[in-house]
Amino acid sequence: MGVGATGDARDGSTPDRPTPEPESDRSRLTLHIVIGMVAGLATGVALNMAQAQLPTAVDTFLVEGVFYVGGQVFLASLKLLVVPLVFVSIVCGVASLDDISRLGRVGGKTLVLYLVTTAIAISLALSAAMFFEPGAGFDLTAAQITQKDVAAPPTLTETLIALFPSNPIKAMAEGEMLQIIVFAVLFGMALTMTGGAGKRWVALFNDLNDIILRLVMLLIALAPYGVFCLLARVFAAEGLTAIRPLAAYFALVLGVLVVHALLTYPLMLRLLAGLDPRVFLRKMRPPLALAFSTASSGATLPVTLETVEHRLGVDNSIASFTVPLGATINMDGTAIMQGVATGFIAQAYGIDLGMGDFVTVVLTATLASIGTAAVPGVGLVMLAMVLRQVGLPVEGIGLIIGVDRLLDMVRTAVNITGDATVSCIVGRSEGKFDDRIFSANSE
Ligand code: ASP
Repeated sequence: MGVGATGDARDGSTPDRPTPEPESDRSRLTLHIVIGMVAGLATGVALNMAQAQLPTAVDTFLVEGVFYVGGQVFLASLKLLVVPLVFVSIVCGVASLDDISRLGRVGGKTLVLYLVTTAIAISLALSAAMFFEPGAGFDLTAAQITQKDVAAPPTLTETLIALFPSNPIKAMAEGEMLQIIVFAVLFGMALTMTGGAGKRWVALFNDLNDIILRLVMLLIALAPYGVFCLLARVFAAEGLTAIRPLAAYFALVLGVLVVHALLTYPLMLRLLAGLDPRVFLRKMRPPLALAFSTASSGATLPVTLETVEHRLGVDNSIASFTVPLGATINMDGTAIMQGVATGFIAQAYGIDLGMGDFVTVVLTATLASIGTAAVPGVGLVMLAMVLRQVGLPVEGIGLIIGVDRLLDMVRTAVNITGDATVSCIVGRSEGKFDDRIFSANSE
């Protein structure tokens, strides 16, 4: 179906919708992004190792000059698309629904799946932490414990009230994603109820949607350079030496992330949607690379949405809603870090966690993920909430902070994989999934 067909189906009168770029171009771009990642990683590690030998000016010019500017410009160009894309895309999606009551059903299914996958993720992580005990015998006296400043997390009532924008322009200016989603859904519903005027505006929004998607494609073309700069800078600063004292913790978080991404999601895709997970993962490579490089589900959102709609085949009426919602509230990778970190910190401090604590951690981490933003490092803020809830020392965060940036990259990739998985399952269950797009040859 692609961009063109989706648009045609919506208003039935616009044969001039833009065509998606050919698959061969996409394959080449994906390859270039992977090359950019590997080259960025290698450059960063090499710079980090050669730091002592290199003149400071060279290091500063490259890392804080070229790579910093290149990375930030790329990030900003991704982020600038998020608010207009989410708003316009949801309005189009809601306006194209044949039956408005479908919205409630889709919302319900999506929320349940997001909560269930997060609960599975954190249960897996906690069980692994209990079994492998990465924090047992950890030398607290040798560890550098730094008090982390953590903002108090929002309460449930605050989160509920904050869903509704009193000023949609302010919500957009501040990038308040849940408020933008609520406003866009209401606006889309009003358009479908407004007769001729509504129809004219729906056509306008459909055109705008195509234009914004074209902009997304233009910017994806910069991704190989963007990911190179982002990764070169991160690895030049971080190096890999910080991992050594925390190797057990690092490996366990990575292991559970990989199990969740390569076992839980593929099983769900097969059993609940009858889809081939290998095709799914292959097509997800560009957004996965961006999630890894930016460590931000929010910044990756434009590319995730484009992939879910135009490469995996979920109809705009479902994807426009599920993907932005997922980027905001569904963070399975983050939940996994929290599960392992909670076990690790408890073991390092010699505190036993009982079954009641286990349940509390699962509930708190699942709910905490709803109220926090999809930006780098936010997982630590949520972790503070979880630790406080089970009476563990919040300064324990200082133990794991050294490797958090690296893990953030991997868990963000898992976060967006979860969003795309749930979108496919919901799209398929609603009959809003194009099998031809999904199985269209790619890479
Ligand atoms: N960086 C993650 C995301 O944007 C959140 C986190 O784990 O800190 O999805």
